[in-house]
Amino acid sequence: MIYLDNNATTRLATEALEAMLPFFREHYGNASSAHALGRMPEGALVHAREQVASLLGCQTAEVVFNSGGTEGINHAFKGVFEAFPAKRHFVITAVEHSAVMAVADWLKARGAELSMVGVDSDGRLDLDELKTAIRPDTALVSAMAANNETGVVFPQKEIAQIVQERGALLHVDAVQAAGKMTLDLQGVDLLNISAHKFHGPKGAGALFIRRGLRLKPFLVGGHQERGRRGGTENIPALVGMGAAAERAKAHLAEMEGVRSLRDHLEEALLAIVPDLRVNGRNAPRLSGTSLLSFKDLEGEALLLRLSEKDICVSTGSACTTGQKEPSHVLRAMGVPFEWARGTIRISLSLETTRAEIDQVLEILPALVAELRQLRPMAR
Ligand code: PLP
Repeated sequence: MIYLDNNATTRLATEALEAMLPFFREHYGNASSAHALGRMPEGALVHAREQVASLLGCQTAEVVFNSGGTEGINHAFKGVFEAFPAKRHFVITAVEHSAVMAVADWLKARGAELSMVGVDSDGRLDLDELKTAIRPDTALVSAMAANNETGVVFPQKEIAQIVQERGALLHVDAVQAAGKMTLDLQGVDLLNISAHKFHGPKGAGALFIRRGLRLKPFLVGGHQERGRRGGTENIPALVGMGAAAERAKAHLAEMEGVRSLRDHLEEALLAIVPDLRVNGRNAPRLSGTSLLSFKDLEGEALLLRLSEKDICVSTGSACTTGQKEPSHVLRAMGVPFEWARGTIRISLSLETTRAEIDQVLEILPALVAELRQLRPMAR
């Protein structure tokens, strides 16, 4: 099996698994318990928070553990909406993950006003549009660190400066960026990550809340997470996230090796396959992401043929299963329909090998030619 869908999820790292295991049966106590069995989980939670804070480059008190990216995004948006009733304007980008899109829509239905900042044909954010979009009543600007479909990385420093100068808060969805590139928290007020994207377990994540920014608890309940998120902590998962965060930080420099594998794949494909577009190719991108559009082809058909050959890729959310519309990301980039429908996303990780990429190069061009011949589409 060749797994090239690492932007969807990653394989749990051995270090994370081994760190987690004792907390299922040996150290199963509640971190809030005063007796002996509560001590190990409590200490483990402290350690996991240090590991995550170290990956993010923040203080431990600024880390709120949660169930993943979607929860962090909900906490950030709904928390700001509630904390600043005089500010009802929110700014997001046109290529945000559906979790951001959905919560922004949710706020809109409750009286918020929404502005969406566009991108160019390479997926680069229009910074001039961002500048004019922010108003005195803008509560929050949300701009992702790196896009889940294209891998395009937004200029964090410039965005933070623009937002700060205009007096709004900045939220960054860093689910795809964490563990793959260095994050810069300068000028960032809220930032969310998710463990399963960097070889940690599913259902664990964290929200960075800048010290001094007071939001209501996301889940009202016990005093866990300093009263910011009630509920007994999922200790094994959070311990796993901590170990994965430490491992990811230690291996950050090796992501450049992944970039050369990805570039090798793209260059070889561009040389062999006609009518192929690499989306976001001229923009700064994550090292392991490649969003390929094959003109006059169905991405879903190609995905299935690759799957028959034990190669796992995705259509990004290019065509969410059963949905024939191209993704909002490709539409925002102005990719024409006859290209957008033939899109697949290949996402590598540190585990991807040169042999795997070479095997893809042996199989993929032939499949594309075969599918184009089988079902020629109107040009
Ligand atoms: N944001 C981005 C950019 C993502 O890629 C994802 C997951 O695909 C999410 C948010 C949601 O994260 P989670 O699956 O942890 O809820």
